[in-house]
Amino acid sequence: MGPVAMKIRVMASHGPPGRGVIPALVYRAEAYDEADRFRECKWGCSHSHDSVEHAFNCGMDWLDDQPAEPASETA
Ligand SMILES: [Zn+2]
Repeated sequence: MGPVAMKIRVMASHGPPGRGVIPALVYRAEAYDEADRFRECKWGCSHSHDSVEHAFNCGMDWLDDQPAEPASETA
């Protein structure tokens, strides 16, 4: 295993239909391996966050719990 550089992204989607006139956008955090050319989703949070910031923070919290530290950018 080489160095793992996990990144967090936020995916937006519409909430469940029938809950208001306009379906609200909900946000979920996803983690992917930066070195993966396909950027396959390695993890996704199971929440429906109200904002991008909340979702991103959720992802960062998850990342903090992982044993592998994010790789530094120094060459
Ligand atoms: Zn979450």
